Amino acid sequence: MNDEDFMRLALAQADLALVAGEVPVGAVLVREGQVIARAHNTPVAQHDPSAHAEILVMRQAATALGNYRLEDCTLYVTLEPCTMCAGAILNARLPRVVWGAPEPKTGAAGSVINVFENGELNHNTVTQGYVLAQECSLPLQTFFRKQRMMQKSRTVFTHLRDDALRTPDTAFKNLPGYPWQPCYISDLPALNGLRMHYLDEGPADAEVTWLCLHGNPAWSYLYRHMIPVFVAAGHRVVAPDMPGFGKSDKPKKDSAHSFDRHRRVLLEFIEALDLRHIQMAVQDWGGILGLTLPMAQPWRFQSLLVMNTLLATGEQPLSDGFLAWRQMCADKPMFDVGKLFARGNPQMSAEECAAYNAPFPDAGHRAAPRAFPPMVPSSVDSLGAAVSRDAAAFLMEQWQGRSLMFVGRRDPVLGEAVMRDLQQRIRGCPEPVVLAQAGHFVQEHGREIAVHALQTFFNSDTAGDSQ
Ligand SMILES: [Zn+2]
Repeated sequence: MNDEDFMRLALAQADLALVAGEVPVGAVLVREGQVIARAHNTPVAQHDPSAHAEILVMRQAATALGNYRLEDCTLYVTLEPCTMCAGAILNARLPRVVWGAPEPKTGAAGSVINVFENGELNHNTVTQGYVLAQECSLPLQTFFRKQRMMQKSRTVFTHLRDDALRTPDTAFKNLPGYPWQPCYISDLPALNGLRMHYLDEGPADAEVTWLCLHGNPAWSYLYRHMIPVFVAAGHRVVAPDMPGFGKSDKPKKDSAHSFDRHRRVLLEFIEALDLRHIQMAVQDWGGILGLTLPMAQPWRFQSLLVMNTLLATGEQPLSDGFLAWRQMCADKPMFDVGKLFARGNPQMSAEECAAYNAPFPDAGHRAAPRAFPPMVPSSVDSLGAAVSRDAAAFLMEQWQGRSLMFVGRRDPVLGEAVMRDLQQRIRGCPEPVVLAQAGHFVQEHGREIAVHALQTFFNSDTAGDSQ
């Protein structure tokens, strides 16, 4: 038996914990190729904060061997050990620990701290992580998803933070082409109590999920032409409104917005909904943030649908068009958002244009549109520039998914030149499809884009026929 075989036995223990309502972590202890102890977490059942799988499995083994020193054993555990277990492992002089999934919040084998690499504490134990990492994280994801659902069914999300505003529902009544039910989430750490709105259409167990990310000053309304096409193809579509936009809560202060915070909200959101087989549609800030996401959770992403956006690495100066836009936002912070859409989209009705003003009834609600333009990383040490450079390296060197690019030619801000540069930065990205009639808000021509994307990614010829 090899490490993976023993890890599978530990996983069987994790499944027992899951059934028992414990955090599903399992462990086995192996000596000379023989399993001498198996255990899973039982803190809830035993009212014992120390009843982690590692502690229990070492206790069993030490009892069986009549020796607290487990000097010729290997411990297999499905989750990176915490500090308590790391300490106990060192006390037991275990020569080797093999763990599965990383634990970003409490991991003591590198994720938060590395107890095992402290030479003054540890002379004995070597560790090996990420063995069957994905399999090992599955029961944990299932467990926490169930917990969140139970929590959600209990919590009524009406609370509004004192330092935030909520656009009244009446502002969104009878918007043309937007018939979808609102979904809300507020228990992501990065939201810090804000309520975030999102659309979640199509079957929850669909083979793929479209994650549609809007930019400034738009909201999920921007995807109204694309959502029905994807749903008609049997796909799921998830479209969040970033905090400060659309139907999401709006912090009063501009300073509540930062590149990093919005990025964390998106990462936590994807994890909370456990989105997989993601086809990510991005434009404007949807891409500035969104294109930095796949490197953090590469196994969740399959395809990129990229529309007028950029990777703001700070290495090149921002375009003149962008600088002019940023200046306009500074000079006229109360500019008419609906008119901005009308200008580039003569095909839009007055009601459709007005839908983009709906989230912002007054200046108090407009912290995000004020904060976002200056937040675009403009130099190599701007906040967000380093993570954007990492993302550029990932997309160039490691991205394995498909990609497709649409350019609205009439965009003075993030038009063809910016997009052709971006195309060079995404591994395997074909020539952009240039839409001569489209402006910055390319999704206003979204139906055609969605049909084209389905054909390219899924060889689907019938996708657009239902409308
Ligand atoms: Zn532990």
